[in-house]
Amino acid sequence: MKRIENYDLSARNTFGMKVKCALYIEYDTVDELKSLDYKALPQPLLHIGGGSNLLFTGDFPGTVLHSNVKFLKYVDMGLDEVLVTAGAGVVFDDFVAEVSGQGLWGAENLSLIPGEVGAAAVQNIGAYGVEVKDIIAGVVCLDTKDWSKTIFKTPECAYGYRDSRFKHEKGRYVITSVLFRLNRRYSPRLDYGGVRAALEGHDLSALKPSEVRDAIIGIRRAKLPDPAELGSAGSFFKNPVIPREHFERIAEGNPVAPHYDLPDGTVKVPAAWLIDQLGFRGQREGGAQVYEKQPLVIVNATGSATPAEIIALEQRIIAKVKEKYDIVLHPEVEHI
Ligand SMILES: Cc1cc2nc3c(=O)[nH]c(=O)nc-3n(C[C@H](O)[C@H](O)[C@H](O)COP(=O)(O)OP(=O)(O)OC[C@H]3O[C@@H](n4cnc5c(N)ncnc54)[C@H](O)[C@@H]3O)c2cc1C
Repeated sequence: MKRIENYDLSARNTFGMKVKCALYIEYDTVDELKSLDYKALPQPLLHIGGGSNLLFTGDFPGTVLHSNVKFLKYVDMGLDEVLVTAGAGVVFDDFVAEVSGQGLWGAENLSLIPGEVGAAAVQNIGAYGVEVKDIIAGVVCLDTKDWSKTIFKTPECAYGYRDSRFKHEKGRYVITSVLFRLNRRYSPRLDYGGVRAALEGHDLSALKPSEVRDAIIGIRRAKLPDPAELGSAGSFFKNPVIPREHFERIAEGNPVAPHYDLPDGTVKVPAAWLIDQLGFRGQREGGAQVYEKQPLVIVNATGSATPAEIIALEQRIIAKVKEKYDIVLHPEVEHI
């Protein structure tokens, strides 16, 4: 177990914010985690993964916990279905690479999403028509109330769009491992975001999960910043959902406004489009910048952007979108 006081978190958040925490603890086993005297640690407590959905708004006065529990185990090799369990500290994309390489379907559309397995189950990460809840069979946690082991089946996780019970009961459960259900049966999902087009020239009837993975990696690399080169936390805002009448007012002046009709009659509007319409692409606030290739992403363009600069840019965007479209954007990135 690693235990470091006054710890520099720069390398632990993909935005690259230069902030510190009073204490950083990285545990290698679940027993080490259980052995901690939570009440005696500097408060508050924050469990992080890869720090790829976080914006630290300043130094953190308490304890930051991080799992180094890394294992991958094939627990049931049925005829079609295969159950795999992964430690919360496994890099999510390492898991995707492994199972896709084994010819198992289900995870490939989630290729190259930064972060770790534990947080993926908190966030219900999604991309290219798939959400991680689609392949989760169960989530193993420690309940910090009494350190009991609790296993939630997928319906008990209350999954929604980038949402779960773990977000609403933040701090109560530490996820220690996740059970995934994958499939040997040919089941690619190609009808989303240019995946099919990226596979042109491939024999679609004989595709392998690793080919879909490679196509998705290609698409993502072309439009999203690599956190190793340019700091960001991915999509900064959630896509707003508005009443149909509201959308129709927007569409009067913009007949090509992109949107998705939802089953309940409301309309989801891409936040990237709203931001782009207002000319924010490339705009800066000190070292913070709206990413040129994808205006939903705010990047740490200089490597030395401060939390205050990122928040100033965020607030400018929120104010303008509200003024022009009467829509309040909400950040997807968690502010700490
Ligand atoms: C370039 C880029 C692209 C991205 N693309 C996508 C995308 O396509 N789709 C998508 O959904 N997201 C995307 N993201 C966002 C991000 O990758 C996901 O939200 C990811 O799941 C965060 O994982 P993490 O390990 O970094 O978690 P962190 O950001 O460290 O934490 C996220 C949350 O999980 C909690 N948490 C972490 N570990 C545990 C644990 N073991 N137990 C309990 N709680 C825990 C934290 O307290 C926090 O609330 C992108 C981010 C970047 C930087």
